Amino acid sequence: MQPHEHGTDAVDHTVTPGRCPTTPTARSRRWLGQCEVCRAWGDARICNPCHTRFAPPVLRCRRCGLRLGTAPEGEGHAPICGACLLQPPPFARTVCAVDYGFPWDRLVAAFKFHGQPELATPLAHCLAAAVQAQQLATPALAWPQALLPVPLAPPRLAQRGYNQAWELARRLGRTLGLPARHDLLSRPLDTAQQAALGRAQRQHNLRSAFLVEPARRTRLQGLHVALVDDVMTTGATVGYAAAELLRAGARQVDVWVLARTPAPQPGAATAIAAAPGT
Ligand SMILES: [Zn+2]
Ligand SMILES: [Zn+2]
Repeated sequence: MQPHEHGTDAVDHTVTPGRCPTTPTARSRRWLGQCEVCRAWGDARICNPCHTRFAPPVLRCRRCGLRLGTAPEGEGHAPICGACLLQPPPFARTVCAVDYGFPWDRLVAAFKFHGQPELATPLAHCLAAAVQAQQLATPALAWPQALLPVPLAPPRLAQRGYNQAWELARRLGRTLGLPARHDLLSRPLDTAQQAALGRAQRQHNLRSAFLVEPARRTRLQGLHVALVDDVMTTGATVGYAAAELLRAGARQVDVWVLARTPAPQPGAATAIAAAPGT
């Protein structure tokens, strides 16, 4: 396991192209244990019945990943929610596997806060399955050229010992045959503990939280990348990260997250149009 982001080899592309993320690998076939959700014995850390029950495919806004009620009539493309139409976020697309709720909140907490980085493997497989489902549904979609974890600020990385987003990104890269890079985007400013600050100050801090160092910019020119993270709450963090990547020369930024915090009221996000393109 990569203990943290600052390694000498910034690229993780030990790839197995074309492997279905839901198909057990040779290693997972040998593994025998209890499902992390229902505790049934088997050869997967999240068993198929639990995956089917707790990670069903649902209709989501293609821009921000929020769950939508129903697709607009005659909808041929993935829909887009009203909020994203009125104020499009900097990222072009969001793939998310599940809503942030039972049992994913418990699994993410164990993964992130209770020192169980090995949970990255089943969680990354869950996200890879969502990415592949989207690709199957819309095969004309451009595939990103690199996966970038949302970085942690150095104090947080030192405290945790690993970046959960990098643990997901490098596994996704292996499964999907894409390079994962943790050296292109950095986070010099720790914005995690700023509840006491006013809204304007918080937004100012977030705006300057992410940085593509000048020496890295040539690597980003014209690149289509996907930002990878475990949970997307309001979208503000990935929005500022995506804006910095675009400023630095990236051509397109997508977001791939395991879990999306649902809108405050169920059905609050409404699909009101379907513009092809992004
Ligand atoms: Zn289970
Ligand atoms: Zn949206």
